[in-house]
Amino acid sequence: MRKPIIAGNWKMYKTNTEARALVNGLKEKTMPAAVEVVLCPPFTALTTVAELLQGTAIGLGAQDLFWEDEGAYTGEVSPLMLKELGCSYVIIGHSERRQYFGETDETVNKKVKAALRHGLKPIICVGESLQQREAGETNAFVAGQVEKALDGLAPESIPQVVIAYEPIWAIGTGRSSSGSDANEVIGLVRQTIAKKFGSSLAEQVRIQYGGSVKPGNIKEFMDQPEIDGALVGGASLKAEDFYGIISY
Ligand code: PEP
Repeated sequence: MRKPIIAGNWKMYKTNTEARALVNGLKEKTMPAAVEVVLCPPFTALTTVAELLQGTAIGLGAQDLFWEDEGAYTGEVSPLMLKELGCSYVIIGHSERRQYFGETDETVNKKVKAALRHGLKPIICVGESLQQREAGETNAFVAGQVEKALDGLAPESIPQVVIAYEPIWAIGTGRSSSGSDANEVIGLVRQTIAKKFGSSLAEQVRIQYGGSVKPGNIKEFMDQPEIDGALVGGASLKAEDFYGIISY
């Protein structure tokens, strides 16, 4: 059985003061035992959030990393640095990074390998644009992204991987996928992993849906057999909303 994982991607929101208020708001609530909950604040708030999360069941993740351990890479953050701060997850290849910061399937693959090398679990984001969906290219495009992201990985690392299927047209738009459409693509993601690594490993990979998830629609996704959680952007920025999602 795969334990569902719901992660909050705070994107470029929350100063340290605001981060503290959000985490304290969440800590007032009882966390559901059946779901793994992870917070992914910006780099600048990782230490603050890590300290506040000590002794709780909530995990910590970063929103990106660089693939080298150290070096002359101004502005970048290494897996070692994240590990030392207490991160156990890292989001890789979010569509905003692919769109605005030149991330490619090749850089995503390097980052996935670097994360795993240091014991960080990657949350790998994949998903099609509206144009690709309308052209009937979703399945081929998403399967290609998954194949390239996992290329060259050791089979034993596959159960550590989390995939987030996030159709780009659903991110931050208020227009979510239907549960059944998301389930279909996520099923295809699992088949793609199975072709590469075998079905018993593919069955262990948790695959989230992401894109305008809210308290009012989370159940529709969690009820689907292939969907193992959610990556939540906007609705993870308020304790009430995020709690409404994790306690679906
Ligand atoms: C995201 O940032 O990964 C995301 C899914 O955003 P939102 O929930 O706001 O659509």
